[in-house]
Amino acid sequence: DDIGATDEATLARRARSYSPVQGHYFEDPPRIERGWREHLIDVDGRHYLDMVNNVTVLGHGHPAVARAAERQWRLLNTNSRFHYSAVAELSERLLETLPTGAFDAVLLVNSGTEAVDLALRLARAFSGRPDVACVAESYHGWSLAADAVSTSTSDNPRAGETRPSWVHVLDAPNAYRGRHRGTAAGAAYARDAISRLGDWAASGTPIGTFIAEPRNGNAGGIAVPPGYLGAVYDAVRAGGGVVVSDEVQVGYGRQGEVFWGFEEHAVVPDIVTMAKAMGDGHPIGAVITRGEIVDALADQGTVFSSAGGSTLSARIGVTVLDVLLEEDLPGNARRVGELLRSGLIALAEQHPLIGAVHGRGLYLGVELVRDPVTREPADTETRIVCDRLRDLGVIEQPTGDRGNVLKVKPPMCFSAASAAFFLRALDIALAELE
Ligand code: PMP
Repeated sequence: DDIGATDEATLARRARSYSPVQGHYFEDPPRIERGWREHLIDVDGRHYLDMVNNVTVLGHGHPAVARAAERQWRLLNTNSRFHYSAVAELSERLLETLPTGAFDAVLLVNSGTEAVDLALRLARAFSGRPDVACVAESYHGWSLAADAVSTSTSDNPRAGETRPSWVHVLDAPNAYRGRHRGTAAGAAYARDAISRLGDWAASGTPIGTFIAEPRNGNAGGIAVPPGYLGAVYDAVRAGGGVVVSDEVQVGYGRQGEVFWGFEEHAVVPDIVTMAKAMGDGHPIGAVITRGEIVDALADQGTVFSSAGGSTLSARIGVTVLDVLLEEDLPGNARRVGELLRSGLIALAEQHPLIGAVHGRGLYLGVELVRDPVTREPADTETRIVCDRLRDLGVIEQPTGDRGNVLKVKPPMCFSAASAAFFLRALDIALAELE
């Protein structure tokens, strides 16, 4: 990686050519050269624990993926209008992870954004309605349509004022700091949502699509309170709409006990979107739904993506799923996630800055607050903690609209030793601040 050049020189080159709108971690980022499992190594040989990489689920540099990719690339890589077995194999394998009989149509694309965009198009065609309801503080992608339903102000500070007229935003169902709290929060948020769905229908814009994550990923792994999704799904369907579960971030086994986030809510969506984990860093996304929903697009021609479902992508997709299950990474996410969660709860007892530990499995969020009663977001402190953790050898980043939640979503091969290292480093960083 340009050995001999300084980090500053390579960063300046980047700033001149690679548009800065795409951002980078840290003002003064380490120059990363290689990765192994949950570890990153910079050009000076310094190691970092990667706490934020929920794409490379098998761990950096997994040899099985490298081998499968190399072999397939040398044999054949072409588009899914040709006939080869990998595309059927991946589709079948994906359907096997979902509730039996509920889904029968897989569409393969290249990213989460593409999956969301296609899901919105399918739902609009099937429901015959352009209006979409989504949830505040969420992110679904960067394309025209996926961005339109992305409401998170951490990604776009003006998201609240700039949504197109076909987008209708519901409150974020957050039982920790939202309008409704505690055990009845799910039912209370659902009541609000159902009342707004009624208002939109009455004013001539009935909702055709409801899209939400089954856990508030961008907000920091915050639970969608029990009862909410079931009630909102029912209301949307009763009004003639379809429901999309965006599993790009919180699905694919990362939560440990459930493979898909919607399972936790005992609901079954009409359309599921997925990406990130599927390719372990290779660009793969999918929309999974029922044939009758896809048929609604029939008068708009066929759906085709040059690289979506390519021989290479499909083969990598099958390999990633094989390794994920053979190495029981969902089980590891549950076991090590529980270690991390209980360690974080123990830290919260010593450090009043920790207001809440959100999430489950290896999708956690540590929310920092200045005051346990007012829950004033400790955003500056969160940035300081991230910078200090980096000195201590941990890559950590803030998330959420208030910038006060630490992301904890490392590769799913994350070890107990790495959990202990992270907890110790966080303990040091928090102690220095207090
Ligand atoms: N949906 C969700 C819930 C996401 O978290 C993301 C990415 N952060 C996307 C969609 C978009 O995925 P991609 O970056 O692969 O386009």
